[in-house]
Amino acid sequence: MRDILGVDVVIIGAGPAGLGCALSLLRRGVENLLVLEGSTVGASFLAWPREMRMVTPSFNANPFLQTDLNAIHLETSPADLHGCEHPSGQQYAEYLKAAVRHFAVPVRENQPVTGVHPIKDGFRIETAELTIETPNVIWAGGEFSHPRIPEFEGAKLCRHNSTIDSWDDLEGDGLIIIGGYESGMDAAFNLVQRGKSVAVISTGEPWLNEHSDPSESLSPYTRGRILDALNRFPKKLALQGNTEVVRVTQNEAGYCVELSTGKSFCTAVAPILATGFRSALTPVKELFEWDGGQPIFTEEDGSTTHSGLFYSGPSLVHRMSKFCFIYKFRARFGVVGAAIARRLELDSVPCPEEVARGFHITDIECCTDCECAIDSTAPEFAEVEVVH
Ligand SMILES: Cc1cc2nc3c(=O)[nH]c(=O)nc-3n(C[C@H](O)[C@H](O)[C@H](O)COP(=O)(O)OP(=O)(O)OC[C@H]3O[C@@H](n4cnc5c(N)ncnc54)[C@H](O)[C@@H]3O)c2cc1C
Repeated sequence: MRDILGVDVVIIGAGPAGLGCALSLLRRGVENLLVLEGSTVGASFLAWPREMRMVTPSFNANPFLQTDLNAIHLETSPADLHGCEHPSGQQYAEYLKAAVRHFAVPVRENQPVTGVHPIKDGFRIETAELTIETPNVIWAGGEFSHPRIPEFEGAKLCRHNSTIDSWDDLEGDGLIIIGGYESGMDAAFNLVQRGKSVAVISTGEPWLNEHSDPSESLSPYTRGRILDALNRFPKKLALQGNTEVVRVTQNEAGYCVELSTGKSFCTAVAPILATGFRSALTPVKELFEWDGGQPIFTEEDGSTTHSGLFYSGPSLVHRMSKFCFIYKFRARFGVVGAAIARRLELDSVPCPEEVARGFHITDIECCTDCECAIDSTAPEFAEVEVVH
């Protein structure tokens, strides 16, 4: 039987969410904490297609009290580190590694967590090498290892975009991308730049959507690139919105994608799925309460069924609002930090710098009724004019 390690807080995942929470806890004087990372710091970003860049802009406005949108610490800036506005996955992973080194965040790499087991007064965490008992766990495992494969017939014949290392590697022409949000449009832009003809198929028309929330419509960065591609290569890019794929079939010539409109597109290359990811909570879903497909959280982003278990990351939802970008979910680093400090009987007063810089936002009522709120009764995309 191996030794059982006791720590005050275990954080699972060394991406922006896990590291941001660790930094908030360190700021509060919580030192007996451990971040367990299954691979390496920033692993998801290292797995992005090489050409992919962050859509949220980085800019070092920190001295003017407006922290770089992609930063996970008040006084750091990926823009300052790399001198660019849209870091690549590789550059962002380097930023995360620099933060770990600079702030001496206690991270153990290559420790995939295989079990989070509730025990009396806390949790037992298992990796291949370690057994740890702790009263506080933050699950920050991210979505990237849970690609969403749609349910239509033949979906498994397609290739999810998260498996692509570089758009340079994709041979053939006449490519079909299923999904028209950020990843699909990023793929389309990169392929058209490489001289390929591309058709994008989407249930809505996110490229037209004028929703004010970038969680619901294309970011200005992606929309600008797509408009540029449409202007420069009008015959290379076809956007097929407001339709669903009903079936993908394979024959000797390649693949046929059949749409709900009755149209079909055929291609020699396996269609690309840009259909997003399942919830980041997938591996620990039984430790959280769910309402249909949505997890339910306490006001401090904890599990409603297991006290001491918290979540940080893009699958956070509160009162129908999504926190799917870094600048959104970092607004809760201070909230989780304060909740854990209180459980450890440390000072749990909100840290003024975190409040001032938007790293500790408790007033999320403003999001309940505003345009960026999720409305489960509304169609997936607002109705828009067809302009092409
Ligand atoms: C392709 C893509 C592009 C995106 N672009 C942007 C963008 O431009 N701007 C933005 O703000 N957001 C963007 N996002 C949103 C995205 O969710 C966040 O940027 C970010 O990756 C989420 O942070 P995270 O820490 O929750 O997850 P991750 O960055 O995925 O980190 C999770 C970490 O947990 C580790 N892990 C997982 N399971 C285990 C386990 N069992 N044991 C131990 N470790 C484990 C993983 O190896 C990983 O290192 C993008 C997302 C994707 C998928």
